[in-house]
Amino acid sequence: MRSNAIPEWAEQVAEGLGEGPHVVVSGISTSGHIHAGNLREVLVAEAVANALRARGEEVRFVFHADTIDPLRKVAPGIPESFGRYMGHSLSHIPDPEGCHPSYAEHFLAPFEEALEEMGMEVEVLRSHELYEGGVYTEVTREAIEHTEELRRIMQEVTGRRMPEGWSPYLPRAASGDLTGNRVVEHLPEESKVRFVDREGNEGVADYSKGEGKLGWRVELAARWKALGVTFEPFGKDHTSRGGSTDTADRMAREVFRYPVPGRYEYEWIGLKGRGDMSSSRGIVVLPKDLLRIMPPDALRRMVLGRDPSRRADLDLEGGFPRFMDEYRSETEDRPVPFSHLATVAQTVGDDVELAAEMLRRGGYGRAAEDREKLARELGYARNWAQRWAPEPVRFRLLSPEESREEMERLEEDQRLYLAALSERLEEGMGPEEIQDLLYETAHERGLKSKRAFAALYRVLLGKKSGPKAGPFIAALSVETVRERLRAGARSL
Ligand SMILES: [Zn+2]
Repeated sequence: MRSNAIPEWAEQVAEGLGEGPHVVVSGISTSGHIHAGNLREVLVAEAVANALRARGEEVRFVFHADTIDPLRKVAPGIPESFGRYMGHSLSHIPDPEGCHPSYAEHFLAPFEEALEEMGMEVEVLRSHELYEGGVYTEVTREAIEHTEELRRIMQEVTGRRMPEGWSPYLPRAASGDLTGNRVVEHLPEESKVRFVDREGNEGVADYSKGEGKLGWRVELAARWKALGVTFEPFGKDHTSRGGSTDTADRMAREVFRYPVPGRYEYEWIGLKGRGDMSSSRGIVVLPKDLLRIMPPDALRRMVLGRDPSRRADLDLEGGFPRFMDEYRSETEDRPVPFSHLATVAQTVGDDVELAAEMLRRGGYGRAAEDREKLARELGYARNWAQRWAPEPVRFRLLSPEESREEMERLEEDQRLYLAALSERLEEGMGPEEIQDLLYETAHERGLKSKRAFAALYRVLLGKKSGPKAGPFIAALSVETVRERLRAGARSL
C-alpha cells in the first residue's frame, strides 16, 4: 500500500455513510496544547473525508475549534493568576504569553499551522465566530424552548440531577463568567434571554450575537444540526456509557429532530514508555514538533497506525529509524537508512555538499543527486538526533584540537594503534575493508578490539562508542580521519 492510498477502514466507514452531500467534522478544545493525540482525531476525519471524495461525494470537512468554551482548568505552565478567568470564554481571555490575540488562539494557532503544513484541505471554524455570526441562533432558540426535555435526557442518561434553574444556555455575565448565571426568561422574538448572575445582578444576553453559548453536551447535538454534520469521530472519553455521545444522540433524535451522524471510535495514542498523551498531565508532543522529524505523510501514517480503533504508542526514540525506513521503502527506491542519515547529519551539520560527498563514499550516490530532497532529509535526521535519539546514537565530530586533547588521555598502546591505522588507511577503501582493517590492526598489535575501538571513537567523537566504525570512516574523507589520528601520532 502506498502511503497516499485511502486506508481500508476509512473506505468501509465511507461506504456505510451512503450518499451525501457530507459534512465531516472534528471538534477540539483549545484550552491547552493541541497535541498529536488530538491530531489522530483530525486525521481520522480527514481519511474519511478523502474516502468520501474518492467515491465522488461532495464533502465539506470542518475542524470545529471550541474557542468559546469556558476555561475550566488552567493549563500546565500557565500562571496561576489566570484562575481569575475561570468560567470565561477562551476567546475572551488574554494570551498568557502575549503573542496571540487570545488564550484560545495561543493554543489553536500552532495546530492550525501544522494542518496547513500538512496540506490538509480543511475549514478551520472558531466556535465564538460561529455564535457571533448567528450559525447557532436557531438551534439555541430550539434548545431553550425545549429546556425541560433536554433536562430530562441529561438526568436519565447521566444519572445525575441537574440543579435548580438548569438551562441548556449559558449567558455571559458582565464579568465575563459563563458558568454561574441563571436564565430567568426567554425572549424568542428578540433572540435574547434575561438572566441573574452570581451576585444577583440582572442581565440580558443576545444569543444571535455570541453573548453566551450552549452547554457542551447540548452543543454537541445542536452543532450536528447547525452545520449539517453527517460524520464525526470520537475518542473513548466521549463514547463511554452515559458520556456525551449518549446524551447527544438522544437530544438529536428527540429534541432537534436530526439524524445522528455516522461515527468512528478511535483509541488513544501514547508515547512509548510514558503513557497516554494528555495536556493536563503534560505528556504532550505537538504536531509541529513531529513535522520537524518527518514529512506530513509519514506523520499521518504514524499517528493513524494501521487501525486507529486500536491503541498506538509512538516510538520517537530508538525505534524511530526503523519506522522511517519502513515508510520510505514503500515510497522510494533504495532509500538511505535513516540511521545513516542521522550519522551524516551529525557529522556535517547543515552542509549539503559535504553530506552528498559522504553519501557517495558510503555507496549512496543516487540519494545525493537531488540536493533539495537531501537537505530536507538531513534536516529531519538532524532534528531527530538532537531531540529524540538515544544517547549512544548522538555525537559530534571533534575538531583536530579536541582530538588532540582526547588523545592525551589514551594509553600508549592505544595511541600507537591509531598511528598505525593512520598509515594504513587509504582513500577509496570500502566500509567492509575498513572494518577488517580496524580488527586486523588491533589483532596484530595485541590490542583487545574493545580498547582499540574505544580509542578510535574517543579521538573522533570524544565518546567510547558511536556509529558502526567501518561505514562511518568510509563515509568521511581519509584526510578528515587522518588529521585526527595523527594529532595523536605527533603527541607520542
Ligand atoms: Zn501566544
